[in-house]
Amino acid sequence: METDLNRCKRCGQCMSVCPVYQTTFREADVARGKLALLECVEAGTMRWSDRLGEILSRCLLCGACAQVCASRVETNLMIQSGRQRLFEIEKSGKSQSAVLRSIREGDLTAKILLKGGALLQALVCKKIPETSGLHLRFPLSFFTERSTVPHVAWTPFLDAFRPEPDVRVEGPRVGFFVGCGANYLFPDMAWALVRILRHVGAVLVVPEDQVCCGLPAYVSGDTDTARKLAQKNIEVFESMELDAVLTVCASCGSHLKTLASLFADDPSSRDAAASMAQKHMDAMTFLVDHLGFETYLKALEPGGRPNKTRPLRVAYHDPCHLRIGQGITQAPRRLLEAVPGVQLIEASHPGQCCGHGGDFNLSHFPLSMKILDRRMEDFEKVKPDRIVTGCTGCLLQFAEGISRRGLAGRFEVCHPLVLVEKAIASCRTPAQHRESLPVFQARRTDAGQ
Ligand code: SF4
Ligand code: SF4
Repeated sequence: METDLNRCKRCGQCMSVCPVYQTTFREADVARGKLALLECVEAGTMRWSDRLGEILSRCLLCGACAQVCASRVETNLMIQSGRQRLFEIEKSGKSQSAVLRSIREGDLTAKILLKGGALLQALVCKKIPETSGLHLRFPLSFFTERSTVPHVAWTPFLDAFRPEPDVRVEGPRVGFFVGCGANYLFPDMAWALVRILRHVGAVLVVPEDQVCCGLPAYVSGDTDTARKLAQKNIEVFESMELDAVLTVCASCGSHLKTLASLFADDPSSRDAAASMAQKHMDAMTFLVDHLGFETYLKALEPGGRPNKTRPLRVAYHDPCHLRIGQGITQAPRRLLEAVPGVQLIEASHPGQCCGHGGDFNLSHFPLSMKILDRRMEDFEKVKPDRIVTGCTGCLLQFAEGISRRGLAGRFEVCHPLVLVEKAIASCRTPAQHRESLPVFQARRTDAGQ
């Protein structure tokens, strides 16, 4: 860490891309300022403190600063290391709310509390009378600032998913790491992937005992919890002998890609983590680059009566965890451009962060909303029917942006795969066309054969 800190030349290039700095114009909010403070701590002229913790928390860990740094300082990793050190020193996890802590830990309590999210929604929307004792049992302070409270699925995807009983796969085996966002909040995107792959005869292996990817724990500095969750997932997915592991959430995916770095001092876990990271692939990239799905979509024939309505105007938002974290910008656009009835439009500042940033949205809500406002202005100028994005954090953020700016009914937000699945469901597929897809040479066979 000391070496990397010293590499910072204070050139200020990171100021040009930092969404937080560009909102506050405070030196302590940009990577350069944070690195200077960490250097003081290393030199012994400053102590770890709550104030430093607050400064380090004012970062989305978007990675934009590291991407433009000519000195190749891994700025976001330095900031993350600082958070980890503070977590160890102060055990700050103990002061976190039960909801946040259990989401990080991804355990049974999380499941119960997240189900409670639907209850919280009912409480906030006054569907439950204020006289009810339930108002006293759930802290509402976090939810009061938001105009929207995430709807929580009463039946999470992993509880509802059933493998096709009469199908086995020959050829490569593809697994699905679902992630908490797709499991609890946006199961439609998980179902979209399942239905798309079933439509073309491919089969997903969905281990039911998978847990949270561990990213929320990691970004809060709780590396021990992040390691435990990673180890559980590695064990579960390794036992399935998969050739690829797909994700539909950019945040989960970018974390899975870097799993090995969690085990720098543990070679056996590191190798297993590296193997899982190598198998990981974002589902949209898989569809475009490995399944030839772009050509497939373009050849679909509209079903029913000819559709004379105008195309659906769709604006794509690049999640930082996909654009910077995984270097993926083209696969989602190519997929969307191929969807019948969809017109892909580009808003200005395509790489601009939405301001969600995991914990950042919870701990710095007003600042997060200012960053979101800038991104919403970009979209409002091009007037899309849908904002589409492949990250659960961004989906939550845009749902909030649409609501607080009074755009409900004019814009909607969804995952690209949801549009792809709808197109497939409403179009006719020539039989020979479907058979031409190289679905990993997987073949449907009856289990009894
Ligand atoms: S771009 Fe890199 S070298 Fe320049 S100030 Fe930022 S962190 Fe330091
Ligand atoms: S990771 Fe993003 S938010 Fe954090 S300092 Fe770098 S550019 Fe700013």
